[in-house]
Parts: sequence; structure tokens; C-alpha cells
Amino acid sequence: MLRSIHCLQDVVDWGMCTGCGACYSLCTKNAVTLENIEHVGIRPRFKPAACAGCTECLDICPGYGVDASKYATKCTCAVQTSHLIGPTIEVWEGYAADNELRFRASSGGVLTALSLYCLEQEHMAFIFHTGMDPMAPWKNITVQSSNRQQLIRHAGSRYNASSPCDSLALIEACDRPCVFIGKPCDVAAVAALRAKRPALDKNLGMVLTFFCAGTPSVSATLDLLSKLAVDAAQVRGLRYRGNGWPGGFSIKKNTGSHCQVLSYEDSWHFLQKYRCLRCHLCPDGLGEMADISCGDAWHRHDKNSNDPGRSLVLVRSEHGREMLKKAIRAGYIQLTTSTPENVIKAQGLVARRRKIFGRLLAMKLLLIPATQFTGFNLFRNWVGLSLLAQIKTVFGTLKRLLHKKLWHKNSLDQSGRTNNFSQNILRRIA
Ligand SMILES: Cc1cc2nc3c(=O)[nH]c(=O)nc-3n(C[C@H](O)[C@H](O)[C@H](O)COP(=O)(O)OP(=O)(O)OC[C@H]3O[C@@H](n4cnc5c(N)ncnc54)[C@H](O)[C@@H]3O)c2cc1C
Repeated sequence: MLRSIHCLQDVVDWGMCTGCGACYSLCTKNAVTLENIEHVGIRPRFKPAACAGCTECLDICPGYGVDASKYATKCTCAVQTSHLIGPTIEVWEGYAADNELRFRASSGGVLTALSLYCLEQEHMAFIFHTGMDPMAPWKNITVQSSNRQQLIRHAGSRYNASSPCDSLALIEACDRPCVFIGKPCDVAAVAALRAKRPALDKNLGMVLTFFCAGTPSVSATLDLLSKLAVDAAQVRGLRYRGNGWPGGFSIKKNTGSHCQVLSYEDSWHFLQKYRCLRCHLCPDGLGEMADISCGDAWHRHDKNSNDPGRSLVLVRSEHGREMLKKAIRAGYIQLTTSTPENVIKAQGLVARRRKIFGRLLAMKLLLIPATQFTGFNLFRNWVGLSLLAQIKTVFGTLKRLLHKKLWHKNSLDQSGRTNNFSQNILRRIA
């Protein structure tokens, strides 16, 4: 009874919260606030009296459960490898036709170009997505863009905690449809919440996501700055990549000087160690529940070329297919057809998906409650691994869970500190 998840506080205490912010948006009692805890991530705080007896937010919480069989598209033209990459209608690769946008974006700028198409041609009201917090450039905030300039300012991946679902009430209240861009876990929450809220459903003109290996906490960025001997107080702007493919970690100082301080490879190598436990258990790295999901077309990447960026594009819904077709026709995006095999070649996330069953098995053996993942073909993927790889995954995860003392609940106190939480939860699990 004690070692299970009964309420959202348990989701947080067992390290399964993704910090999406959907509970904040859903709650009609104003009982939830969000706090960005530097060494952990964005986490909800609850008013115990208001929350007593209410578990409504569990239904939509991607830390409690993600059901792809319910919310991912039931596509008729399923590809052979859908157990590895999720239900996919079409696979494309390419880039934004707008050269500046393509250069500024993470990979090919397809997410930003599609968003621009939705604003300019479909007359949607806003794009709700994530950008740099101008008051604290080492943090993210949820932003609303309504023109090309704003979209370009917020293009590019920010390898840091984000909670775009905190804006869902604004989308619901809007007079026209909007675009939502978020991580796959954010999009899973959106899929569950829109099923309960017809007004939100109506106003979600397009739901976009990107391939995601997990989100580091704010501490990752602050520790990286201090490793580089950069005083955070002197930083006025901070980008993780973009301005070329993949671009690099760059900062703008108060003095106005702008410098790229680290390559993408070196900065990601450092930052990824600060991803939370829940991210290491995620089988949805390729984003199944959006209309469109984009990632880097790494299989085309050549360090010696000046290619400004290429994206892989997975069409996940009929609506996504229709919108993508129109955006290509209107000249916003240039794409050529690609294949699921290219996705598998390009993305280490597919190899991670094969291991999730073993990681979850190790959690079960230690009676650690975890997110319920349904419809991801976890066992089918797992049996595709060699026996040696299976053994390594289970024992490797067991070793790390024990070493990091993750077998017990780690409650956050008021200051955000926990019993072993900071060190444990942030280190790589398997
Ligand atoms: C934490 C993280 C992990 C990732 N892991 C992988 C990976 O393993 N493999 C891979 O191929 N790609 C990964 N990506 C995505 C990749 O970096 C590109 O974003 C993707 O290829 C889309 O490129 P684009 O040029 O179309 O996007 P852009 O046109 O640059 O648009 C990116 C959009 O994402 C939004 N955004 C940026 N940071 C965040 C954030 N933290 N949370 C929510 N929204 C955000 C921006 O607001 C913008 O709208 C990751 C991105 C993030 C943020």
C-alpha cells in the first residue's frame, strides 16, 4: 500500500513527475502551484486541504500513466516497425524553406515553419511553446508567439526544465485555435486532458512535439556555466544550439559580447547527466501522441559540411498529414519522403525503447512504483534484445537504483531539498 502511487504527491515523491504543468491547468480549486526547483525540475506543490479526497489530476498525469493505445493515432497504414517507432502514417525529412528560420532552429526548423504556416495561413491565434526566461536566462518559461519574429526568437531546443502545459487554460479560453509545442510527456498530458475538456480540444489547432531523450534540470545549466568559469549573473542570453546544425551552447553577456562556448556534443554530454529518473524510463522518446513529431536527421549529418539543418518528420495523425501537406504546398517546408529505417538509423532513442521493459522490471523487483506505460509494445521490443543485453539492462538498473538509494520515497521539503533526492534522481539510471 505504501509502495504505490495513490495521489499526485506520490508521483512527485517517487520521482515520476515530468513537470509538465498539466495538473496546474486542470485544477479548478487553485490547489496547485508550480515551482522550478533547481536541482530537480519543475514540480507541483499542493494545498493539502483542497486536494483531500481529490485524485482527478491522476487521470491526466504523464507521471502516473501514459496510454498510447488510447491516445496515439489508430493509423490504417501502420509501418512494419511501428512497435519501435510508434504508429506512423508517413515519414519525411527536410527543412524550413525560410533560410533564416532554418539556420536559427535546432535541426531543420520544421516545427517553427509549421507553426508559422498555422499563424499566417490557417489564422490560428498563438503558438504556445518554450523560450528563455529573460529574467533568468538559465531557465525556461512558457511563451506565446504570434508572429515570425517571436517564433524565430524562441526557436531552438532548450535542454532545461519546461512546463508548457501550464498554459492550457489560455488555449482553452482563446477565441481561435492555437498550436501547442511540447515534449512527448507534455503532449501525452494534452492528449488526456483534451479528452476531458471539449473547449480545449476545439482550440488545439495543431499539437507538435520533438524527439526527446530527457530534460536536464536548471542545475545542469548552472553547473555548466560554473565549469566554464562564467558567472550566471553576467549572462543576458543563453542558447543550447541552433545558428547552424547542430550549433552549440552559446551565451551573451551583459557587456553585449556573444560567444559560443561549447559544441553541442560537449554541452549535451555534460547536461544529460542531470535528467530525472522518469526520463530514463520513457518509451515515448519519439512522441506518439502529437499530430507531428520532429527530430534530428542525424543519419544525414556530416561534421565537415555546412548543412544548416535537417529534420526527420513523423506524421502521427490524419490531421497532421493534412496540415503538413498544406504547409508544403504553401512553400513553408521542403521535404522528401523518408523511411522508418532512417529513423532507426538516426536515433539512439529506438535502442533505449528496447530496454524500457528491463528497466521497469528492475523497478518492480525493488518494489519501486513507476509510471504505467500502455500500448508501447514494451515486451515485444525487449525480446528483440540479446539475452546478454537483457541481463545487463536489468542488473545495471538494479545496481544504479540501489547505489543511488532510489528504492525509497524521497519527499521534497518546503525548500525543495530531499532525503538523497538531489544526487539520486539526477544521475543516469541505466
Ligand atoms: C530536452 C530535449 C531533448 C531532446 N532530445 C532529442 C533526441 O534525443 N533526439 C533528437 O533527434 N532530438 C532531440 N531533441 C529535439 C531536437 O533538438 C529538435 O528540437 C528537433 O529536431 C526539432 O527541430 P526543429 O528545428 O524542427 O525545431 P525548432 O524549429 O527549433 O523548434 C523547437 C521548438 O521546441 C520548443 N522547445 C525548446 N526547448 C523546449 C523544452 N525544453 N521544452 C518544450 N519545448 C521546447 C521551442 O519553443 C520551439 O518551438 C530534444 C529537444 C529537447 C528540448
